[in-house]
Parts: sequence; C-alpha cells; structure tokens
Amino acid sequence: LISIRDLRKSYGTFAVLHGIDLDIAEGEVVCVIGPSGSGKSTLIRCINHLEGFSAESAITVDGIKVQPGAALARVRAEVGMVFQSFNLFPHMTVLRNVMLAPIRVRNAAPAEAEAKARDLLARVGIAEQAEKYPGQLSGGQQQRVAIARALAMEPKVLLFDEPTSALDPEMVGEVLDVMKKLAGTGVTMVVVTHEMGFARQVADRVIFMDGGRIVESGTPADIFDTPRHERTRSFLRAVL
Ligand code: ATP
Ligand code: MG
Repeated sequence: LISIRDLRKSYGTFAVLHGIDLDIAEGEVVCVIGPSGSGKSTLIRCINHLEGFSAESAITVDGIKVQPGAALARVRAEVGMVFQSFNLFPHMTVLRNVMLAPIRVRNAAPAEAEAKARDLLARVGIAEQAEKYPGQLSGGQQQRVAIARALAMEPKVLLFDEPTSALDPEMVGEVLDVMKKLAGTGVTMVVVTHEMGFARQVADRVIFMDGGRIVESGTPADIFDTPRHERTRSFLRAVL
C-alpha cells in the first residue's frame, strides 16, 4: 500500500534521511522506534508530503505518487494523521471537529456526517463529550477526538507521531487501548512511539531507526528479544 524508495531529505546542508527503503502492506501495523533526532517524524511526515523530499526519492500510496500537485489531495484523503499535540480546532465542539473534514473535503451531507461522527465518538469511548469544546476535555479524551477525526475520512492509512507522549501517564492507556482496537480492524497503521509495550504487543513489524537510516526491522520478537545490531541493543537497554 505504501512504497518508499531511497527516501532522502535534507534541511539545508543537514541530511536527515539517508535513503530509506520501506514497503508497507495493506492492513499492516508498523511501529517505528529510535532515539530522538533519528528522523522518525520526518519519515512519516514525508508519506503525506507534510515534508518535501529529494527529487530522486519516490513514495507512492495506493499507487498514487506523492508529489506536489493535484494528486496530493487524493493522497491526503487516504492518509490520516494523529499528532502528539492533538491539533483540534479549539473554537469548535468535539462533534464539529469530527464532522468538518467529511463536509468540507468529501461534500458529505451534514446529517450524515453528524451520524457518522457520533458513531466514531462512541467507538473511541467519548460519545457523551460530543457537545463540549476541546479545552474542556482531558488530554486523553482530546487525543481520542483526534483519532475519531482522522477516522471520519475513512483513510486507508493512519500515521501516528508519538500520540501518547504529551499525555499524563494515567491517560496513556486509554489512548493505546483505542489504537489497539483500531489495529484489529484492518486499517494500515504507521506508529512512531516510545511505548515499547504497545509496539511489542500490537505491531506486525517494528522498525528501529538511528541517524536517518533503518538500522533493522523485524517482528517484535526479532527486535526486542534477538536484536542483531549493537545500536539496537544499546537503545533498548536505555529505554526498557
Ligand atoms: P524525536 O524522537 O525527538 O521526535 P525524531 O526521530 O522524530 O525525533 P525528527 O523530528 O525527524 O526526529 O528530526 C530528525 C532531525 O532533523 C533532527 O536532527 C532534527 O533536529 C532535524 N530537523 C527536524 N525538523 C527540522 C527543521 N524544520 N529544520 C531543520 N532541522 C530539522
Ligand atoms: Mg519526532
């Protein structure tokens, strides 16, 4: 579903990604781990072209080439993104936040968008918060709204960039539970995370990055129980 070939990216003269090759199959759940500054966010932001990348690199999503221009809207309609900082619209109710994109981008009928939004809010366990504003919710609830909002576009792929890093510890579990449930529904997920327990339990594949490269990738058992590279071992020693 996603194909990444020789992905290179620099900020000025500073090279951040040094040629990443990665294929992600439909329905696959891939967790990306690695130290701060290793290029994890940059990698997933390139997938929907929130970051541009070098001209010799190529990314396709569902057969559509990711590049500036008319096709980019089609890519973004298929790729939902959930950020560390929830990025909800503060002046809109939770319900409106979730209804907005389907109405604006997909021309959904308001009544239909509302029914779907309520359904999604129920799925992430916050149906009763629909009429509140984001500022009236806990961090965990806001992040669940952000997930519902991403799902409202029925994306084929969901990208998560450290979705629980900004949360108080007692709220991490409720967001991870929602993501675990999602992982069972067949949506393709790419999750940058520091939650090693989640990666071990939920990922089909774990990718360890360092210095703008994929150092190794494999099943959770490969990476966590029998890592092949010393760099992976020292990272895991530090975080586990
Ligand atoms: P973290 O775990 O801290 O989120 P990360 O693995 O997501 O780290 P990136 O955010 O992808 O890392 O950053 C990779 C490198 O690119 C870092 O060295 C960072 O300083 C640099 N970088 C990121 N964004 C920019 C930018 N807009 N301008 C210049 N350098 C940047
Ligand atoms: Mg990051």
